[in-house]
Amino acid sequence: MMENTSIRPHSGNSPSGGNNGNCKRCASDHVSDFNGELAIHFLGLENLDKPIVWVFPELRACLDCGFVEFVLPDAEKEQLKNGHFPAQSRAVG
Ligand SMILES: [Zn+2]
Repeated sequence: MMENTSIRPHSGNSPSGGNNGNCKRCASDHVSDFNGELAIHFLGLENLDKPIVWVFPELRACLDCGFVEFVLPDAEKEQLKNGHFPAQSRAVG
């Protein structure tokens, strides 16, 4: 008989495969999803006049260590990346 010492991380039936829902910081599975409401400020005095970017992401919070992760929606991500904000005078539609 061969030694059976191999450790399998997770042999579950995860439909997405790969990323299970465990906390990336402490590996706890005590995580819950929430709807977030978050104001992102640019750092630095020169950016004080930049508008706050509001995002409403789905948060995944670890209820053991407090680690929170979320993904920026595309529009807000572009705003943070480019520092470009739609002009208020720009017509929509
Ligand atoms: Zn954690």
